[in-house]
Amino acid sequence: MKYIYGPVRSRRLGFSLGITTIPRKVCSFDCVYCEVGRTTTLTTERREYIQREEIVTEVEEFLAKYKGPLDHITFSGLGEPTLNSEIGYMISEVKKLTSVPVAVLSNGSLISRDDVKHDLLNADIVKFTLNAALSAEYGNINQNNPSIELDAVIQGIIEFRKEFRGELWIEILLVRGLNDSESNYIALRKALNLIRPDKVHLNTVVRAPAFKIAGPLSIQELRKAKMLIGNGAEIISTKPGISVRHNMAPSTLFANS
Ligand code: SF4
Repeated sequence: MKYIYGPVRSRRLGFSLGITTIPRKVCSFDCVYCEVGRTTTLTTERREYIQREEIVTEVEEFLAKYKGPLDHITFSGLGEPTLNSEIGYMISEVKKLTSVPVAVLSNGSLISRDDVKHDLLNADIVKFTLNAALSAEYGNINQNNPSIELDAVIQGIIEFRKEFRGELWIEILLVRGLNDSESNYIALRKALNLIRPDKVHLNTVVRAPAFKIAGPLSIQELRKAKMLIGNGAEIISTKPGISVRHNMAPSTLFANS
């Protein structure tokens, strides 16, 4: 199988079969904490990076043979899944094959576009990562393609929420010194009040990040963030406070921002 992996056991999604719609590592972000590594193609261009039929055929073949537990089929993978212009078709076809709920894990960068919004409406769970509600902190941690504007992302999520009938989750990943200011927490609280997600997950760096400067928050710091962000936020990080070596110069950190 080239484009599907697992099922892996996930705390939030149970036994989850992963699907990547994007080759490593095409993304609209180059997040400092990314577990996949540095982004090699920083783009917002939507196209059929991987042929839709190849992915749907793999899922069909897997489902025909697999007899174990399966709680979700999850579009995530090696880059931003909504960059594949055929993700809407893939979600619909997978849902024809099985009653297992379909989840999409996205960085939310393209959700202000009508085509992306439309493509995700058929999913059962959509989780957007929203690490900051202040532009400087958003750019520092995500190192996004310059064409992405935070206000448009937040407004896009608000509009999506109005139409989407599934569960909308927001994940906030906190990195020491980059998006852990009280002012960011207050701004996130205001944005979440407007978005009205079903769940808010707080996370921090727990695996080797793309940039070694990306350090985790302690459990005490996560608790403070939870209190200030509100909106029912839950801490989902399993190993907060692990130490990560800080040996990369800050000047190299924001090379693509
Ligand atoms: S959006 Fe996801 S895949 Fe892209 S750089 Fe960030 S963590 Fe990595």
